[in-house]
Amino acid sequence: MEKRIHIAVVAGVGYSHLVPILRFSNLLVHLHPYFHVTCFIPTLGSPPTASKTILQTLPSNINCTFLPPVDPKDLLLPQGSALALQLQLAVNHSLSSIHQALKSLTLTTRFVALVVDSFATEALDLAKEFDLLSYVYFPSAATALSSYLYFLKLDKETSCEYRDLPDAIQIPGCVPIHGRDLVDQAQDRSSQSYEFFLRRVTKFGLADGVIINSFLEMEKGPIEALTEDGSENARLYAVGPIIQTQTKSGDDANRLVCLSWLDKQQPCSVLYVSFGSGGTLSQEQIDELALGLELSDHKFLWVIRSPSSAANAAYLSAQNDVDPLKFLPSGFLERTEEKGLAIPSWAPQIEILSHSSIGGFLTHCGWNSTLESVVHGVPLITWPLFAEQRTNAVLLSEGLKVGLRPRLNENGIVEKVEIAMLIKCLMEGEEGRKMRNRMKELREAANSALKEDGSSTKTLSQLALKWRNLV
Ligand code: UDP
Repeated sequence: MEKRIHIAVVAGVGYSHLVPILRFSNLLVHLHPYFHVTCFIPTLGSPPTASKTILQTLPSNINCTFLPPVDPKDLLLPQGSALALQLQLAVNHSLSSIHQALKSLTLTTRFVALVVDSFATEALDLAKEFDLLSYVYFPSAATALSSYLYFLKLDKETSCEYRDLPDAIQIPGCVPIHGRDLVDQAQDRSSQSYEFFLRRVTKFGLADGVIINSFLEMEKGPIEALTEDGSENARLYAVGPIIQTQTKSGDDANRLVCLSWLDKQQPCSVLYVSFGSGGTLSQEQIDELALGLELSDHKFLWVIRSPSSAANAAYLSAQNDVDPLKFLPSGFLERTEEKGLAIPSWAPQIEILSHSSIGGFLTHCGWNSTLESVVHGVPLITWPLFAEQRTNAVLLSEGLKVGLRPRLNENGIVEKVEIAMLIKCLMEGEEGRKMRNRMKELREAANSALKEDGSSTKTLSQLALKWRNLV
């Protein structure tokens, strides 16, 4: 029997920094069954139900351990601190548990590599101590990665806030990006969050490689720029798109309601509206969105959360006790009974996006949602909220031209007329038709990348071979 090759993995905190690295592990052990993955999962407070449910679906050659939860109070951060900073610090607080676990496991198991989520880069130091190759798993776009690495240069060359730079920034291989569309953590250069961000990105360069969930055919420019000869960046491995094949959320009631409603709709007639695992809107924005959907007169399936002034309020606790439907404008549900379905908090996204009645996706441009839409060929309305989502929106709407981006008014609100106009444009206009066609081409390209001789499969095999040769 072939010798087992052991890889240690450190996930990030939160559902969408756990699922991608597990999906990557799953693909690795599926294509190369002699690998065994041990995954350590840091948590801030108790893990979300969706994260626990996902563990029940893993094959026997992936072992997962939830690390002792970090108490949010121990992070010693003021209330309202940036989410990214909380995620990063939570991993830092788990380092001693990871160290302890690795130390005891290495008595009996020889690991060859350590792969860490992009928020867990402090754990890369452990690779040296345990003599492992080290990798960052970056669960987002090559464009976002390029922008992150470019900050190391921009930080030295500019002194103003990036959003005040007069021109869009030309990052090698990428579509030009305005400073205001760069990642949240870089929007205040005097903040602790920015300091931690730069530290995190510097660590990317110290790893033996960065693995990204994207593929050559979708992001040729940035991927080639990051891998060109003479580049000082860590070796890049584009192995995507890796997405879930089924939503494991544990909420079967919502699943049934959504799918049986979609079964009754015409092909390509429904707009799916969702802001990821934790995106939230203000009450004012919920009202405008509701009225915009109504005004568009198109069918919709909307996953709705209770309002919050913070765009990522539900990120660490997706479920909420308050019924979100209570926050819809008065009479909305009755008036749209024939037109739409509003689902509280969580819906089976994969099953929805793969349903033939879905014709468009109004998304917050989280990278998992983006790839899920690409794989199912669904064009987008790109409505970014936080993190690197604005950068993704630029790639999708201006680079790949598969999405329409709403304009914000002077108060940062997307108004109902704008929403209705974009929905009509996407669902029935000529521009929407072209976007749908481009999305279908991307879907084909995504399929090809994952075939046996596809770009991503070959890249993953090169990495697997490298690890195998160490044994
Ligand atoms: N998701 C889901 N149902 C929901 C909301 C989200 O299944 O109602 C899943 C979605 O399919 C995706 C993930 O949660 O896999 C969200 O990840 P993404 O990167 O898009 O956004 P984030 O949650 O990081 O903001």
